[in-house]
Amino acid sequence: MIFFEEALARLSSIRTGGPGQVVALPESLEELLVVLERIRAGTLPSPARFIGNASNILFPDGGLMGTIISLKKMDRFQFRPDGLIEADAGAFLPRIAFHAARQGRGGLGFLSGIPGTVGGGIVMNAGTTTGEMSDILCEVRLAWPDGRTFSVSRDDLLFSYRTSEFQNEDLSGNSSRWRGCVIIGAVLESIPGESSHLLEEWEILRRKRSEIQPLDKPSLGSVFRNPPDDFAGRLIESSGWKGARRGAIEVSPRHANFFVNTGGGLSRDFRSLLEDVRNAVFRENGVWLETEVEIVPEESPATV
Ligand SMILES: Cc1cc2nc3c(=O)[nH]c(=O)nc-3n(C[C@H](O)[C@H](O)[C@H](O)COP(=O)(O)OP(=O)(O)OC[C@H]3O[C@@H](n4cnc5c(N)ncnc54)[C@H](O)[C@@H]3O)c2cc1C
Repeated sequence: MIFFEEALARLSSIRTGGPGQVVALPESLEELLVVLERIRAGTLPSPARFIGNASNILFPDGGLMGTIISLKKMDRFQFRPDGLIEADAGAFLPRIAFHAARQGRGGLGFLSGIPGTVGGGIVMNAGTTTGEMSDILCEVRLAWPDGRTFSVSRDDLLFSYRTSEFQNEDLSGNSSRWRGCVIIGAVLESIPGESSHLLEEWEILRRKRSEIQPLDKPSLGSVFRNPPDDFAGRLIESSGWKGARRGAIEVSPRHANFFVNTGGGLSRDFRSLLEDVRNAVFRENGVWLETEVEIVPEESPATV
C-alpha cells in the first residue's frame, strides 16, 4: 500500500506529525524490495526512512519529504520446534509474547507491554527491568538499500541500555556501519515454561502497567532514559513538573516520564516541554536527562 501526503500523526502512537510525502506499508519482503527498487529508480522519492509502529518517534509538525516505509504490516512470526522464533520485522512484540506464553514458551514476558515491532525493538534495544531485546536475540536479518539481504549473529552486534548500533550513530558516536539498512526480520530465543503460569505472568504485567502508566492517552512511552541508579520520572516529579502542560501535551499526572497528547497536540509543544523539563531537572538535581524518544527535527529531510 502506498499513500501520498498521508498524515504521519495517523501512524504515530502520540498522534502528532504532519504529512509524509509518500508512506509505504509493504506486506511482505517482496513488496518491500519493490519499494526500495522504485526509490532507486526515482519513481518514489528519496530519501527512505524505516519505521515500525512509530511508538518511539516524534514526527515533525511540518511533515517529512521522501518515502517513509512502515514495516508494521510485515508482521508474521512462527515458532520452530527447537524453541527459536522466526519473526518478520513488523511483528508486534506483545503479540509474540502472548502467543509464546500460550505455547509454553517463556523468557519473553517483558515484551508484553512494549507496543513496538521486532525491528523497532532491536534498534531501541527495548526492554524493562526484567529483560531487553538483546537478551533474546539470536540473529538479525537485514537488507541494504540495493535489495541485497544478509544475516548478522547476535554475537557480532553491540547493545547497551536502550541503545544499539542500528541507531544512526553507533555506540562510539560514529556513523553506524548499518546506516541505510533496513531490518527485515530476526530469530528470537525462548525457554520452555508452563503455559498457565506464563499467561498468568502476562496478565499480572499487563495489569501492573495499566496501573502505573497512562495507557488511556496517546504517548511515546518514556521520554527520557533513566540515569544511572535513578528514575527520570522521579526527578521530573521532584522538580515540580508532573502535570505541567504545553498546549495539549501534558506531563502525565500518573507517570511523569510520559508526555501524553490530551487531544490535538503538536510536536513543537512536546519538544518545548521536553527542553523545559530537562532544564528544570538539571537546575534542581544537577542531572542532564538524555532522551529515549527519537525526535525528528522540523524541516529536516528523512535520512537514509
Ligand atoms: C505506552 C508505551 C509504553 C512503552 N513501554 C516501553 C518499555 O517498557 N520499554 C521500552 O524499551 N520501550 C517502551 N516504549 C517505547 C517503544 O514502544 C519502544 O522503543 C519500541 O521498541 C519501538 O518500536 P517501534 O516499532 O514502534 O519503533 P519505531 O518507533 O517505529 O522506530 C524506532 C527506531 O527504530 C527504527 N526502525 C524501526 N523499524 C525499523 C526497521 N525495520 N529497520 C530499521 N530501522 C527501524 C526507526 O527508524 C527509529 O529510529 C513504550 C512506548 C509506549 C507508547
